[in-house]
Amino acid sequence: MNIILLGPPGAGKGTQSAGLVERHGMKQLSTGDMLRAAVKAQTPVGIKAKAVMDRGELVSDEIVSDLIDAELEAMGAETGAIFDGYPRTAAQADSLDEILAKHGRSLDHVIELGVDEDALVERITGRFSCANCGALYHDTANPTSKEGVCDNCGNTEFKRRPDDNEETVRKRMQEYRAKTAPILPGYEARNIVTRVDGMAAIDEVAGAIDAILG
Ligand code: AMP
Repeated sequence: MNIILLGPPGAGKGTQSAGLVERHGMKQLSTGDMLRAAVKAQTPVGIKAKAVMDRGELVSDEIVSDLIDAELEAMGAETGAIFDGYPRTAAQADSLDEILAKHGRSLDHVIELGVDEDALVERITGRFSCANCGALYHDTANPTSKEGVCDNCGNTEFKRRPDDNEETVRKRMQEYRAKTAPILPGYEARNIVTRVDGMAAIDEVAGAIDAILG
């Protein structure tokens, strides 16, 4: 099973990917996470990508497609892939088809998380994650059960993404509208797109996604 979670920043792609990994043993392939890891490790790719990411713009198609190719290369053929935050442009969508074919895979579903854009800024600027295990939280919508303590691992250090500020979020939304939304019609023509209400509660969205996967 190979699926794309598509939706603007803050739609819940990361949260839903984490749930799919847990429930179905799939692997999350998040180009955003891969790039953040490269930035942290100060690899040549990370050094190049950092300024672009901080501005909320898109890094080059070649960089992210190479990252995805390398991850699939290292994955067992039987493990399902969740593409989270990739593809984001028409060129990346074409590359993904080629990369999947090369690895003997094909796309089963594109799940579009539909969201009310006005709510996105609040969703994004309120989010934070555990600095140890990466569990995702939100100040109001999904706080830790005990203040300041990660539910998953008990750690007390948290972090926020540097690009989760209002100005950068607006730029990221603009990029989504201009470059990513236009790839949907191509997938619709292949009859593999299902839209899910991304404004619903996390569990409801998860249920709707599971119903699609069957
Ligand atoms: P995300 O974690 O998916 O919100 O991605 C964070 C940032 O990483 C984006 O704003 C882009 O700068 C960069 N990025 C992540 N995935 C891609 C992609 N598929 N294509 C281009 N840039 C990306």
